[in-house]
Amino acid sequence: MNNGNLTRAEARRRSQLLEVDSYEVSLDLRAAEDPDGPGYLSRTVVTFSCSSPGADTFLDFIHGGIHSITLNGERLDPAEVADGSRIRLPRLQAQNQAVVVGTALYSRSGEGLHRFTDPADGRTYLYTQYEPADARRVFANFEQPDLKASFAFTVAAPSGWQVASNAPLQAVEEMSTSPRHAKYRFEQTPRISTYITAVLAGPYHRAEDSWERRLPDGSLLRVPLGAYCRASLAEAFDAERIFATTKQGLDFFHDLFDYPYPFGKYDQAFVPEYNLGAMENPGLVTFTENYVFKSRATIAQYQARANTIMHEMAHMWFGDLVTMAWWDDLWLKESFADYMGSLALVEATEFSNAWVTFANRRKAWAYVQDQLPTTHPIVADIADLEAAKQNFDGITYAKGASVLKQLVAYVGFDAFTAAARRYFRQHEYGTTSLADFLAVLSSASGRDMGNWAAAWLQTAGISSITPELTYDGGRLASVRLLQEATDPVTGLPANRPHRLRLGLYDFDDAGTLVRTGSVELDVAGPVTEVPQLAGRREPALLLVNDEDLSYAKVRFDPGSLQTVLSSLDRMADPLARALCWSTLWDMARDGLLDAAAYLAAVEGFAPAEADNGVLQMLLDCARTALDRYAPASERTALRQRFASFLRKELAQAEPASDHQLAWARSLAAVARAEPDSADYLAELLAGSGVPDGLAMDADLRWRFWQALAATGKAEASLLEAELDRDRTASGRAGFTAAMSARPDPAVKAKAWQDALSGSQLTNELLDATIDGFMAAGPELLDPFIEPYFRSIEGVWQQQSIELASRVVRGLFPLHQDLAEGQAPELHPVVVRTDEWLAGHGRAPAALRRIVVEQRDHLRRSLQAQQAAEK
Ligand SMILES: [Zn+2]
Repeated sequence: MNNGNLTRAEARRRSQLLEVDSYEVSLDLRAAEDPDGPGYLSRTVVTFSCSSPGADTFLDFIHGGIHSITLNGERLDPAEVADGSRIRLPRLQAQNQAVVVGTALYSRSGEGLHRFTDPADGRTYLYTQYEPADARRVFANFEQPDLKASFAFTVAAPSGWQVASNAPLQAVEEMSTSPRHAKYRFEQTPRISTYITAVLAGPYHRAEDSWERRLPDGSLLRVPLGAYCRASLAEAFDAERIFATTKQGLDFFHDLFDYPYPFGKYDQAFVPEYNLGAMENPGLVTFTENYVFKSRATIAQYQARANTIMHEMAHMWFGDLVTMAWWDDLWLKESFADYMGSLALVEATEFSNAWVTFANRRKAWAYVQDQLPTTHPIVADIADLEAAKQNFDGITYAKGASVLKQLVAYVGFDAFTAAARRYFRQHEYGTTSLADFLAVLSSASGRDMGNWAAAWLQTAGISSITPELTYDGGRLASVRLLQEATDPVTGLPANRPHRLRLGLYDFDDAGTLVRTGSVELDVAGPVTEVPQLAGRREPALLLVNDEDLSYAKVRFDPGSLQTVLSSLDRMADPLARALCWSTLWDMARDGLLDAAAYLAAVEGFAPAEADNGVLQMLLDCARTALDRYAPASERTALRQRFASFLRKELAQAEPASDHQLAWARSLAAVARAEPDSADYLAELLAGSGVPDGLAMDADLRWRFWQALAATGKAEASLLEAELDRDRTASGRAGFTAAMSARPDPAVKAKAWQDALSGSQLTNELLDATIDGFMAAGPELLDPFIEPYFRSIEGVWQQQSIELASRVVRGLFPLHQDLAEGQAPELHPVVVRTDEWLAGHGRAPAALRRIVVEQRDHLRRSLQAQQAAEK
């Protein structure tokens, strides 16, 4: 039976009963290179005490077979005590030792111990990924964050491999009974949670460095640094640059937190087929390999990597040293790390524009998520592990970080820092909840933070703030701000206190739009008068939330909108410009600005946008506007116009610039549905007419091939020839996407089968398959609408939550056209989705959540189409 979904109540009961002292875990990975071997031997010795002797408890273990279970020296019969993913431990004593020996399985979904064979050289690489609860796929344990313990890992593996774990390597012993194999023993860790333990093993390439700091007590803290990637990526690996950022981060966080790095060494491993950006395992952070730049990368990509390095490093304190007791308070680590990531970039690195990126990209993520029917308060209500898994979202990360940024504006940076320092000292190696954080914050700031927390952390949804202006001649007669906010969870009004800046902008003599004044004020209720502005000359633009102090959806007054739509490229300040772009995008999403008008703004002003990250975001938004918000009657013409705009910009771009690459990538994406660009892309692939400085490297070539494949201009033999040029892991993914993109019903049927069968594809190739499959029009995809709704429940049961989530989200029939005169709610796919939801009230909540969210994205698209037709 499937009993893997541990509930909060069960976890609470277990932590009331137990205190865990230590784990000794031995993993036998000697045969890992044999692809036919599905599993490996895993042995756990766990020592723990029980406050109520005689009681029962259970260990978590997801396994391929159990060989023996011993509790306090007594053998237990696995047939009796092992059930699904749990092992019952009956009649506990005050002090206990349990020993579990079993077979654990290698993972292909990135959950547990992932095994990867490098197509470039046939070598085998392993790494673990656990959050929130997959350590139990590798060894038996009490899988919940508040049962911290000390861990000692031993790994048997081929001699000469790089094997790493959280703690430093203590000894490597050649195994006399097993030639060419060695035992790698690691030191004991400090007390940490199970989900941040980690093991890495394989013929990894390793670079080394170290960082030092004299501590206030006069002692020297020396932190050895390591950086890993696959051997076949070693040439592309810029470890020096990674170490440079790492050292900037260690300096910054030591100054800020005043608490010495607690985990000895600091390794960072860039691993294949990784499900997320990175994971903060203490002493051994794992990152997606996409951060090893084999092909030309933009400054925005380097910045994203540096941001992730800082985010994970902040977790060494926020999350690893002090950990949330349960997943309701996931924000206690993710919101902080997300905020600290940008702060550290601005304060300690060359990426001083990080708040622009934050405003433009990070907050956009939060705004989208916070308007879905499934949104939730930052402090969430997480009843079980499946819900926890779905909660690594735009609310927990980006909204939480935005609210912390605003908290800093509210209590001051010094009080915030003092609270953090106190928090680490008071709770080191322990666990916390919201109340613990509010206690240190209130005491450091001298204010009661209960109301602030109630308004910002414990309600859901976003406020929208609209300026209402009246005029008297060329002057402002009155200015008021209207706040609208309903908590979508409770349906109750939720007006929040905002610290806001109103920026006034006018054209200077050179025609540049510059700030000519501003007022800072508090907005609380539904209506706020701004008497300070009465009598002032009418500005060309009034920007609400200038400097991005608060978290809110803001609108333009009609005059300001006109200024933005005619002159956005003349605005000098990059952050103000990014905020205007965000506001335009919010309007497009809300059906208040046609896709055509949004695209015209991008075509008019994006070429002048200096920030490459903002440019990439605009081009992504433009594509969503084209694919989903433009009505069917206009789409083809808009797409042709936009593609020709991209071709022109690509041709004119500064050679070898980041902008040039951004235009090329965007063209490749748009050209998947725009056959007119195919000949041009084919020429570039053949090497003729390539714009000066454009690196036609593997990454870009695959993007072009995918566009050709999707428009029927690339047969399998051509794609296979390209694969011969690029027999790497990323080449294989690029090839898979291109193959499934071909507009042939048989190809689509096979891709569909591959994605749903769940038995063949790794996480990375599943994504590639779905990506290629979806690159098609309705005539090819409509036949899969009904199968989608008939399959998803089975997919959820049969596949791991990670893979199932990708299938259910990725294959949802999102690209739909509204027929003339049709109401969005009556669109057949909306109706079919509602039918599914009504008929599956008892489906797992996490599955329903994805379907509800996709329905809402679809509804929004159809409403935007409807608004544009009017
Ligand atoms: Zn994080």
